[in-house]
Amino acid sequence: MEPKKDHSSVRFRKDGDLYLVKGYEKIPKQLHQYIVSRFKTLTGTMKLDITRNPQDGKIVQRIQDKDVVFFALTLPTIHGESVNLENIDTEHLQISIDDFFSNDKKLIKIFKNNICKNDGMILFIGPTGCGKSTLINSALTFIYNPKLRIITVEDYVKIQLDNIEQLQVSHVTGTMAGMTRAACLGDPDVVYISTLSDYDTAFTAIEHAMKGCLLFSTLYVNSSIDVISRLLEMGIKDFMIGTAVRCVVNLRLARRICPHCKEKAAYSKTDLKGLGLTEDELTNKVFYRGKGCSKCGGTGIFGRIAIIEIFEFNKNIQSSIMKGYDRKELIKVIEKDCVYHSLTEDAINKFKSGLIDLDTVRMFTL
Ligand SMILES: [Zn+2]
Repeated sequence: MEPKKDHSSVRFRKDGDLYLVKGYEKIPKQLHQYIVSRFKTLTGTMKLDITRNPQDGKIVQRIQDKDVVFFALTLPTIHGESVNLENIDTEHLQISIDDFFSNDKKLIKIFKNNICKNDGMILFIGPTGCGKSTLINSALTFIYNPKLRIITVEDYVKIQLDNIEQLQVSHVTGTMAGMTRAACLGDPDVVYISTLSDYDTAFTAIEHAMKGCLLFSTLYVNSSIDVISRLLEMGIKDFMIGTAVRCVVNLRLARRICPHCKEKAAYSKTDLKGLGLTEDELTNKVFYRGKGCSKCGGTGIFGRIAIIEIFEFNKNIQSSIMKGYDRKELIKVIEKDCVYHSLTEDAINKFKSGLIDLDTVRMFTL
């Protein structure tokens, strides 16, 4: 709910984009603060008299015989407090690895193989909201067994996981680096650090990944190869990167074709060849699109699907990095012998399987 100069409005995020909610486009200005106060009261922790500082809390609502949890955040804008509600219903957000990977057996095998090791580091990259934390939570849930100690160090614990010790970084608990050090001292088997934000955090994490602890973390870079240069820029030595990093998972979310109105599409041969498909791949092949129906609001799109890149560091990659990072040399090694399933490759696979349409696959091929 966003306050404007003379009214307030409510927008709802669906499949990545925000839409005005019908009937709530123009809420009278005088009602705004009452509604904000109501939300704050529902959290039970937010202060009504504090309006000039951000506040956060949780709201639990009984919806269709189920407790649904919302993360609430207020921000002091120049026209009053805005309210943000995010559905963090754990049941709703928990998705199995197989579903996340759209049942792609080959990729699932590579991913599960990497997350079931006893040491090393697995890095997840991609923009905010691309599904990194969803996949990491699925991975932690998948590998959990009572013989393992799993600790997470997070900027903000939004989703609570069973059997996992979750630490939240705040001005009271100390810095990310300090909390990471503390978590690693506890002799954990698996640690998830929400982001390698600085040298100290990255160094501690990588050091432990080399010493027999499986480590998950995220980095903000665009491509899987850039993970290496980013870590080097942070001051991590190349031999540490070569020894510790096991694989990089790069994620994007794409628009999924609506399953309710999916139909065969007559795409032109020129368009299809433009994607890099060969004559062979085009012969007798059927491609799809969403026609538009009442279930998808006429858009032909229903929900989103993860486009996944996996770059596995095998011995050749590791020794190439340890010899001193040279991007050109590394690309040669990747081309020669390595598991590097790119975003483009994955998008084309999903286009061929009828999960995404031509416009969507083009975002990954052009
Ligand atoms: Zn539809």
